[in-house]
Amino acid sequence: MAKIGIIGGGINGLMAAYYLQKDGHEVTVLDRGDFSEGCSHGNAGMIVPSHIIPLAAPGVVMKGLKWLLNKKSPFAIVPSWDKDLIYWLFAFHRAATETNVQRAIPQLAALSLLSKKLFQEMAAEGEIGLNLQEKGILMLCQTAATEHEEHHVARLANAQGIQAVPMTAAELAALNPQVRYSVRSAVHYPGDATIDPALALASLTAHLKSRGVVFLPNTEVTGFRRGKDRISALQCADGERNYDHYVLCGGAWSGMLMKSVGLRLPVTGGKGYSFVQNNAAGLSIAALLLDHRVSVTPYGQTVRFGGTMELGPLNSRLNMAKVSGIHSAIGQYFADWKSPEPTPQQVWHGFRPCSPDGLPYLGTVQMYGNLHIAAGHGMMGVSLAPASGKIIADLVQGRTPDLEDMSAFRPERFASR
Ligand SMILES: Cc1cc2nc3c(=O)[nH]c(=O)nc-3n(C[C@H](O)[C@H](O)[C@H](O)COP(=O)(O)OP(=O)(O)OC[C@H]3O[C@@H](n4cnc5c(N)ncnc54)[C@H](O)[C@@H]3O)c2cc1C
Repeated sequence: MAKIGIIGGGINGLMAAYYLQKDGHEVTVLDRGDFSEGCSHGNAGMIVPSHIIPLAAPGVVMKGLKWLLNKKSPFAIVPSWDKDLIYWLFAFHRAATETNVQRAIPQLAALSLLSKKLFQEMAAEGEIGLNLQEKGILMLCQTAATEHEEHHVARLANAQGIQAVPMTAAELAALNPQVRYSVRSAVHYPGDATIDPALALASLTAHLKSRGVVFLPNTEVTGFRRGKDRISALQCADGERNYDHYVLCGGAWSGMLMKSVGLRLPVTGGKGYSFVQNNAAGLSIAALLLDHRVSVTPYGQTVRFGGTMELGPLNSRLNMAKVSGIHSAIGQYFADWKSPEPTPQQVWHGFRPCSPDGLPYLGTVQMYGNLHIAAGHGMMGVSLAPASGKIIADLVQGRTPDLEDMSAFRPERFASR
């Protein structure tokens, strides 16, 4: 049995704690806040094996530049001379190549499918409340260009063994007759799913506490005491803490912390917004409104809508023009939808921990054999969390992880650039 210190109590920290505790380790989760300030609470809760193409892909840069000109568009860069952000943007541009995408697809698909299987196992065991809904996710297209792109993605997904079913508007209406969609076409990914992330976090926390996992709120880690090839302590405001293994799950703040051990781990915060409204149109299948990049997750009587990727400082400023952009998209896809714009008090925001190549950092740091990282999952941090947590537990235990090839997720991949 080893003593493990996990930095960060979002979904990735808690999933790592879950599998490490299952292996019989003595686990402590440290968080600089009260465990509710990360990105893991108000997100769309989508489990997405369908997302086999990382964010950094050819064509994304041009699309992003076009969106920059529209204040209601789903993308923004807050202008700044921050040199980490400038480095990140260049690295993103360099990473958005066909070769990188082709190399990443099988590894990302394998990680996603493992995660989905682990979610199903967890739901079947019944100890953790997830509200796992396995109805698939609909990708709704309004333009020919988006339809063309999504059909291409569907073919790539099929090649990885992920089911994707292109549908005409009439076929979509037949699948879900109670909803009046205003779309050109759709692609249904029956293997996708949703959970309720806030429920999952609360339930995981209660479960872990009942198994003896220690939670330390208001405990910011400011650095690491380094030995020759190992980390020997965490430095916190109130002194040092020693563990046998250290697991970094610090979300959008992970890169700053890794600077103190000399590892370049570029992570920038992609601020996104969400809000909950009454389910006026009787939606029951989750959807992505592709032309507007808006997520729609029904939870019975309510629906959570989410969107926007705003690269910039990690602050709590709300850009209500972006929220309005999300809100105005809804009625364009659901003919019967009418709802008031959310007020600032009704809007949740979170920072997606984005790596420049759109892939997580997952593995053991080469320089320090007892420092492990599960961070930088971007838009898929919930979806990939069980697999990431399980792989961290495997690495700590010295077991071979379930994935044959994890080279695309190496924490050092930007170290020498
Ligand atoms: C609008 C929106 C919709 C989304 N929808 C989805 C979705 O449908 N599916 C999906 O998979 N993902 C989605 N995401 C992304 C997902 O929410 C994130 O990828 C995920 O929550 C990241 O989890 P995490 O545990 O890595 O980080 P976080 O949840 O951010 O947790 C990091 C924790 O580390 C703590 N911390 C940081 N630094 C320190 C330090 N120095 N010392 C101590 N503690 C520290 C923080 O306080 C925080 O609690 C969405 C995001 C947004 C914004």
